[in-house]
Amino acid sequence: MKEFTGAGASPGIAAAPVNIIGHERPKVSSPDDPTSALAEATAAVAAELTELGSKASKRGQGEAAGVLEAQSLMAQDPMIVDTVMENLEAGASFDDALNQTSDHLTEMFRAIPDPYLAARADDVGEVIDRICWRLSGEPMPNAVSLTEPAILCARLLTAAETALLDPDLVAGFATEEGGPTSHVSIIARSMGVPAVVGVAGLMDGAESGLNAVLDGSTGEVVFDPDEDTVAEFRGRARREEQARLSMQKYRGVEVSFGDQPMAVSANVGNASDVERAVAQGADGIGLMRTEFLYMDRLEPPTEDEQVEIYVGALSSFHHTVTIRTFDIGGDKPAKFMNMEAEENPFLGIRGVRTYGAYPKLLRTQMRALLRASVHGKLAIMVPMIATPAEASEVKAILEELVVELADEGHEVGSYEYGVMIEVPSAALLAEQMAPIVDFFSIGTNDLTQYTMAADRMNTALEHLHDPLHPAVLSLCRMTAEVGQRHGKSVSVCGLAAADPLAASLFAEMGIDKLSVAAPSVNLIKSTVAELNVDEVRSAAVELRAAGDVEEIRRSTLNTLLDS
Ligand code: PEP
Ligand code: MG
Repeated sequence: MKEFTGAGASPGIAAAPVNIIGHERPKVSSPDDPTSALAEATAAVAAELTELGSKASKRGQGEAAGVLEAQSLMAQDPMIVDTVMENLEAGASFDDALNQTSDHLTEMFRAIPDPYLAARADDVGEVIDRICWRLSGEPMPNAVSLTEPAILCARLLTAAETALLDPDLVAGFATEEGGPTSHVSIIARSMGVPAVVGVAGLMDGAESGLNAVLDGSTGEVVFDPDEDTVAEFRGRARREEQARLSMQKYRGVEVSFGDQPMAVSANVGNASDVERAVAQGADGIGLMRTEFLYMDRLEPPTEDEQVEIYVGALSSFHHTVTIRTFDIGGDKPAKFMNMEAEENPFLGIRGVRTYGAYPKLLRTQMRALLRASVHGKLAIMVPMIATPAEASEVKAILEELVVELADEGHEVGSYEYGVMIEVPSAALLAEQMAPIVDFFSIGTNDLTQYTMAADRMNTALEHLHDPLHPAVLSLCRMTAEVGQRHGKSVSVCGLAAADPLAASLFAEMGIDKLSVAAPSVNLIKSTVAELNVDEVRSAAVELRAAGDVEEIRRSTLNTLLDS
């Protein structure tokens, strides 16, 4: 039995044999005619990638489709075949020529100063892996072609790979790298696939075919578990299933904390997430992360393409659908934006800070949002706001576009305008920001990262990257109080909203909406509905004096929630 611990990234228990993703490459023997073998293999791989891309796009997985489309173009690029032929002419064996080509091209991409192009090194490597598998005549082992349930183990999964996972066959996954708020974890949560990330040493212990169990809440991964461990995990799975079934009674039910209604809405990134949110009876959408529509594409989505996506989401709900303008930067790059390499991308040109350099991109998105507004209750939200001036500038662009669209004869409905509170300065200036906006939405993932100066991707800083830290809760409380004074709604859409303890504290602060991954909607509805308001209030008063996060996690409130 080999035990590992990482960060729980998506709750749930999984038990299945291990399937290692990706990184081996088969040995390829020399064909009689290398030129025609390479031509056949690259054409077949390009066609396969295009097919996978259109499958992804039909499933509403735009970001995965973009990656696959780009990889298909790479497979057709003569640079791969030309480099293999040069290596053959220099005397390498066919297998060595392929490996040298992969090393050479990935190194070449990695050396490009533009971080987004450099990040394509992994794509070239993946494409050459596929070509080698094709040349070997063996089927390539990958997440997409699973036929039996498995726990996937990998150093890192790409967003595209994650979005393509079939939740019926992927019992769960574990990766050596990544943090619980990285976009791969966000996708896993919205699909309801149990996941553990940032597991040090994972790939040294993983072996395809080995039995494994994992717990996506505690971050435990066990290979070759003994009978007692299997029984223990089975017990946890049974309890989770019972809890999930009992929560279903809250599906579609409106809940409140005392006499304060609490909307529990969903976080989504694509059309399949919208369907899952509808299926769970979410009170609308509290955060649509639109940057997923832009990532890993060669061209940004057009205005009409975006109108269709936004109308799809708006017409799925009677409740408010909050769509966030693109939050590109940090761990969410877009390859068509040739942004300068930055020392600290999370502290650099990200979210609203990209809008000055890409005005057309912003205007196209806002026009699409405004055109879609007649199809439902739209709220437009802006990420990474640090100052009231930024909030006013973006609002002015929206107002100008309303006039432009009306002049062109487009119908524009009403909409709400709000900002994310995820930079400490925005929380500290909420009072000055309140007259500009209709609502605030607290992004605890970034608010924690920026308040605690702890990179959300760095698993070694998990102890600091805790949204229940009193410093973070204090900024949330300040924002909630400003909202109440000005009669503006304040929601939380970071990962913390899905933690029952944090959700209880948010309810007590007067926050009126919690937005979580679709599979957590009814857990949070049941938590809020079943809270004893007086007990929560008195526990929360005590906790205001807490100086560290352990005090909060050990509080009586946590015990009340467990009972
Ligand atoms: C957040 O920062 O909490 C948030 C919801 O935004 P994202 O995770 O997309 O940065
Ligand atoms: Mg954020």
